[in-house]
Amino acid sequence: MNKADSERLENALSQLGFKNTNNPSQSDLIVLNSCVVRQGAEDKVVGMLTSLKPIKEKNPQMILALMGCMVGPNTKDLNQKFPYADIFIQPQNYAPLIDYIEQKLNIDTQGCLTQLTAKPDVTAYIPIVQGCDKFCSFCIIPYRRGREICRPVKEIISETQYLSQRGVKEITLLGQNIDSYGHDLPGKPDLGDLLKELNKIDGIERIRFLTSHPNDMSDNIIESVAELDKVCEHINLPIQAGDDDILNKMRRGYTNEEYRQLIDKIRSKIPNVSISTDIIVGFCGESDIQFEKTLDIIKDIRFDKVHAAAYSIRDNTIAMRKMIDSISMEEKKYRLNKIESIQKNILQEKNSLLSGETFEVLVEGSKKNSQYGRNRNDKLIYFESHEDLKGQMTNIKIKKSTPWSLQGEKIPLKIK
Ligand code: SF4
Repeated sequence: MNKADSERLENALSQLGFKNTNNPSQSDLIVLNSCVVRQGAEDKVVGMLTSLKPIKEKNPQMILALMGCMVGPNTKDLNQKFPYADIFIQPQNYAPLIDYIEQKLNIDTQGCLTQLTAKPDVTAYIPIVQGCDKFCSFCIIPYRRGREICRPVKEIISETQYLSQRGVKEITLLGQNIDSYGHDLPGKPDLGDLLKELNKIDGIERIRFLTSHPNDMSDNIIESVAELDKVCEHINLPIQAGDDDILNKMRRGYTNEEYRQLIDKIRSKIPNVSISTDIIVGFCGESDIQFEKTLDIIKDIRFDKVHAAAYSIRDNTIAMRKMIDSISMEEKKYRLNKIESIQKNILQEKNSLLSGETFEVLVEGSKKNSQYGRNRNDKLIYFESHEDLKGQMTNIKIKKSTPWSLQGEKIPLKIK
């Protein structure tokens, strides 16, 4: 979501004549988009902001802005901690920054936020739900991004058409809990209904969405993924923990068994679906036996990707106020390593079975001598070719695999 927010702001700024530079000392404007979902992310932002202090002191005319989830409704503490920053803006609240730029640089900024969208490339993110209403006990997002607000279907269609006319082939719809899309809109269209509308747009070849919540994944959403030709067979469905008591303390609202049943349903309705998940290790009081249940579910479900992270206390969350962060960092790291090693073996086995298979890949770019793209299941695939195929669909036959990616060669044959 932060990446999408940055891209949208970057595009708006480019309409005002701003150009990118990799050299902070040469910048007229630096916007640091912050993530505070975990302590490590917050530490990074603080480190970067601190490292920008001498640059700002040398060049006081430069505008230094802090954007994103580090900025709450009250900026008094941030003002005290970082007095050299010019402006603090909450996630997706771009207008105060644009107004500040207008005043400071004396330029006309009118209209630059009217068609707020990513700079068109092969793929583009489209945020469709802001905020989250779930209030999981560990999570800071509802406090920083606010309650859920869904964008109207018409607005999303119009943005998708705009992007398609500018060459975008694949869109990824974004929401902290994307499956709850539409509940506050007239007629209550859901994500499945929206997918059906977007599937009709010419030029768009692939549609993805994230992140899902097990309690809001409706049959209509599952059927839309199964039936719509442009919607890719990949679902990111965070489980967070395998033990029911921990899930209850996290306020996730489902049990291990209910999650497993949902996975069975998704797999029975969407052939060849790939499923990824998010896991937090070392949540308040999580015992070894409770952690074993997380490992069991990883082994049983055999996810296509696991994003695992160590629990860290976040300001004002329910867990911070009512629970104790009792698991040591050493133990959390041990558990992360354990997950990584199990998942590595699972992916090694799963990916090696793909050798010899052919996939349709949307080529997104190149690195060193290889071009890369993803198949419909969100698997990253590298290949070599003399032609620049960026933006094109091409058939790649898999020759080699690692747990994290696939390598293949271009062939003009069968589409999978
Ligand atoms: S659903 Fe996701 S974003 Fe919302 S509170 Fe829970 S973890 Fe945070």
